[in-house]
Amino acid sequence: MGVQQKISKNEKKNQKKQEDSQSILYLTNVVFFGLFFSVAYFLLNRWREKIRTSTPLHVLTISEILALVSLIASFVYLITFFGIAFILHYDEEEEDIAAKTTQGVLPKKLPTLPPPKISDQKVMSMEDEEVVSAVVSGSIPSYSLESKLGDCRRAANIRNQAVERVTGRSLEGLPMEGFDYDSILGQCCEMPIGFVQIPVGVAGPLLLDGNEYTVPMATTEGCLVASTNRGCKAIYVSGGASAVVLRDGMTRAPVVRFNSAKRASQLKFFLEDPQNFDSLSHTFNKSSRFARLQSIKATMAGKNLYTRFTCSTGDAMGMNMVSKGVQNVLDFLQTDFPDMDVIGISGNFCSDKKAAAVNWIEGRGKSVVCEAVIKEDVVKKVLKTSVESLVELNMLKNLTGSAMAGALGGFNAHASNIVSAIYLATGQDPAQNVESSHCMTMMEAVNDGKDLHISVTMPSIEVGTVGGGTQLASQSACLNLLGVKGASKETPGANSRQLATIVAGSVLAGELSLMSAIAAGQLIKSHMKYNRSNKDVTKVAS
Ligand code: ADP
Repeated sequence: MGVQQKISKNEKKNQKKQEDSQSILYLTNVVFFGLFFSVAYFLLNRWREKIRTSTPLHVLTISEILALVSLIASFVYLITFFGIAFILHYDEEEEDIAAKTTQGVLPKKLPTLPPPKISDQKVMSMEDEEVVSAVVSGSIPSYSLESKLGDCRRAANIRNQAVERVTGRSLEGLPMEGFDYDSILGQCCEMPIGFVQIPVGVAGPLLLDGNEYTVPMATTEGCLVASTNRGCKAIYVSGGASAVVLRDGMTRAPVVRFNSAKRASQLKFFLEDPQNFDSLSHTFNKSSRFARLQSIKATMAGKNLYTRFTCSTGDAMGMNMVSKGVQNVLDFLQTDFPDMDVIGISGNFCSDKKAAAVNWIEGRGKSVVCEAVIKEDVVKKVLKTSVESLVELNMLKNLTGSAMAGALGGFNAHASNIVSAIYLATGQDPAQNVESSHCMTMMEAVNDGKDLHISVTMPSIEVGTVGGGTQLASQSACLNLLGVKGASKETPGANSRQLATIVAGSVLAGELSLMSAIAAGQLIKSHMKYNRSNKDVTKVAS
């Protein structure tokens, strides 16, 4: 039954009750009014009669006594009813408003008490349906279901039903079964109601630094996996690509304020003085056995100071680690700089999940360059274009076009497509796609102009193989497929660096294929083929 229907049914019931009680009240009042005036008339008549016959007034007959009692009783009733009714006038109005408010007729004006909370002990023994109703009424907060029930899957299921009831909208199609809700508790997602399915495709083998990788890509964009796969093929038959990790350091930059710019500059010089580095890094590194402070760069805005701490983080992407280390240093600095006012642990000079020149220039996470030489005949046979057209298109599109657009780190064709798909598949933070997709794609004719040299330079690939979403079953399986699951036993950080090179290698493949498609004028044709809902798979495969 719809919520609106329920409300109107309740309204009708209440109206009937009110009408019944009003008619009873009306009848009682008529009886007492009649009684009062008739006995008053009777007694006045008797009084006149007694005066005429000189009978003493205090000598009363039984009928006179009964009439007197009735007069007093009806008088008390009438005074009580109408006097109190007048006093209660305002209260009745308020009650009326409250009733209408609960029925949703009027907007809520009066403060209402929250529904009584149900004890944890009682919740445990309740049926699902009772818990759903309690969540809908507000007597069990939705966020507390996991702790009250001690069962994450049941909590998610109940929340799912409560959400449907409260919103009046169906969640059909959002699956509940087949997911381990315990694995996300307290770390990946609060108040779950199910999970979203994203198909995972594979591109490859990607031949990179002598290793073959089958690259998992989670995407709903038709053509993307197929195109990356074609790029992988071109790289493979040309002898493979190679990648170098130029830098590996996660950053966090708190903002602190002083009373003067001069005083802020004293902290800047203190932090940048090589003589202080040992004590600062000693304090910083206490945050984790994997956190190792690399550098501190401080910049000022008036009397505000932004200090960008960079540290290695092992196989973790490292945001938690670096934040803990920075907090240690801020606590340590308070002794020598008690007038330092910490405004925020992050002052955006980090810069996390925002397009910023500081990441493009200084790097964040892993800075990687990846290159390959694609043979002339591969360009012709696999990519269906020519070296000359690719070089020209790259110059006019990725370099000049992006410069014309005022791009920040966007000197590429579609690096973010590949980065996002691999990030989703392998449990990376998809919001970091912003700076992780910064990429400069270069193309040049080599070997007497016959072959193509292609490179991607990506200064801020933020990836990890431990922590966050990487430990979830599906994402962990994708990391396993790449051979970089979890922490590297031999060299902490080796797995996450390898993953960064795979991301860059896959971007190289994606750039190669899309640029070739555009150069060959194939873009629209291939999109029509893969993006139109074509149920006849034999046609797609042809
Ligand atoms: P992040 O800092 O990326 O947010 P988490 O703090 O969630 O990552 O995960 C890092 C955790 O994993 C830390 O507690 C760290 O001690 C642990 N860990 C285990 N092995 C490694 C490793 N090889 N590199 C980095 N962290 C590791």
